[in-house]
Amino acid sequence: MRSYSLIAPAKINLYLEILGDRADGYHELAMILQSIELADQVNIRAIGTQTIQVHCDHPQVPLDKTNLAYRAVELMSQEFPDCWAQFGGVEISIQKNIPVAAGLAGGSTNAAAVLVGLDMLWQLGLTQPELQELAAKLGSDVPFCLAGGTAIATGRGEELDPLPSLDSFYVVLAKHQNLAVSTAWAYQTYRSEFGNSYGRSDRASKSIATEPLNTPTRVHSGSMVQGIINKNGSKIGQLLYNDLEKVVLPNYPQVLQLRQAFENSGALGTMMSGSGPTVFALCQSQEQAQEILQQVQSAIRCPDLGFWVSKFARHGIQIISPQKSLFIGNRE
Ligand code: ATP
Repeated sequence: MRSYSLIAPAKINLYLEILGDRADGYHELAMILQSIELADQVNIRAIGTQTIQVHCDHPQVPLDKTNLAYRAVELMSQEFPDCWAQFGGVEISIQKNIPVAAGLAGGSTNAAAVLVGLDMLWQLGLTQPELQELAAKLGSDVPFCLAGGTAIATGRGEELDPLPSLDSFYVVLAKHQNLAVSTAWAYQTYRSEFGNSYGRSDRASKSIATEPLNTPTRVHSGSMVQGIINKNGSKIGQLLYNDLEKVVLPNYPQVLQLRQAFENSGALGTMMSGSGPTVFALCQSQEQAQEILQQVQSAIRCPDLGFWVSKFARHGIQIISPQKSLFIGNRE
């Protein structure tokens, strides 16, 4: 039986603006996403039985149908029933390095790895657009996790435009190990508190993607794109943006405290990633990242606080390669 091991990187949001509501219940987003080298390892193996088995070394990760990696196998078995019949079931084992429920797309990147793994295991030879289409069926962040690098993401987050690579930068990530923020809660709270300040779009699918949006002009995503093209770290740092901070920071004082500590640390910039609670600081070098980590660690003396230093990555899912991210602190 053949097996494959894949590296599944986490992502951070350099920019997250909520533009409006969509008819399909999602929000219309303008995001700039960045892969980092902090990654899970996903092993995928064909087994004789027609079953899906998921193993993970992290106690908070579900092993049933609610695991996004499980759902990726299910989707592939429905799309390619002949392969499912021919090759049998699949065993997935996830070595979890990405903090869970952290705003770093841990589940989405595992699902993206399974799509790539099954493409190889079942010798499907799928094209990148075909894989992207399957990824979008699993979740808004899955297409980006597949492609990786630096990209603008619009629509629900699944429509991608690649940007020039930013792989010389580093981030310090910090998260309270026992703190989780529900993505659904963050978006729902944003809608109830700020929903009347944005426009309403009827846009619900790619087929009407060219319709103009009845939304306010973007805050500063254009300047951020310019900063990325010029690889201007100071400008990128100043323009980091996340609308979801407006609901998460007032409700989670620990996240606010982290944001303030990073703000005073001399980093290029700091922001909460996705729906949080992870906060990151953008750094010019690994040395700067280590200094900032130590500074914030001594400013907030809390045994529950985990820190990671990671480099920006220019790739999404990869067949196994050495892992360069460094974990410092208590592992969850
Ligand atoms: P996103 O940034 O995409 O919103 P996240 O990083 O905030 O995601 P995840 O780490 O994906 O969050 O976890 C969110 C929830 O999804 C967890 O509470 C967990 O129960 C569930 N989950 C399902 N599959 C996985 C997986 N493969 N890895 C981690 N969590 C998973």
